[in-house]
Amino acid sequence: MKWIIILVVYLLMALYFVINPGNNLKISRIKGKVESFLFPGYSTCGRCGRPWKCVDGHTTMHSEGLGCFPLCESCWSALTPKERLPHYRKMYEWWESFGADMGNRSWVAIEKAVLEGK
Ligand SMILES: [Zn+2]
Repeated sequence: MKWIIILVVYLLMALYFVINPGNNLKISRIKGKVESFLFPGYSTCGRCGRPWKCVDGHTTMHSEGLGCFPLCESCWSALTPKERLPHYRKMYEWWESFGADMGNRSWVAIEKAVLEGK
């Protein structure tokens, strides 16, 4: 039953895409909801919500040996460095909110790397 629902949702998405081809983010967000249902427990892209099981994250190396990936390759490519920055900030604040071990991670280094287009 679960697979029939998913198939119907994907067919509706394909139809929507044919009608409205310029609106890829909406399609990606619907895919994100369906895929998150299928693959619970994976964290997701900060923009489209697709789980890392289904899309590759764009890794931004910000310090020696340290990287992070709040966005998938597709979302990362669609945005300018300035537009990407809030997604990195949100990830950074999320890390802080649960007291993650930040090690040598600093916002200054992340912000610099993002604005340099890394
Ligand atoms: Zn994405």
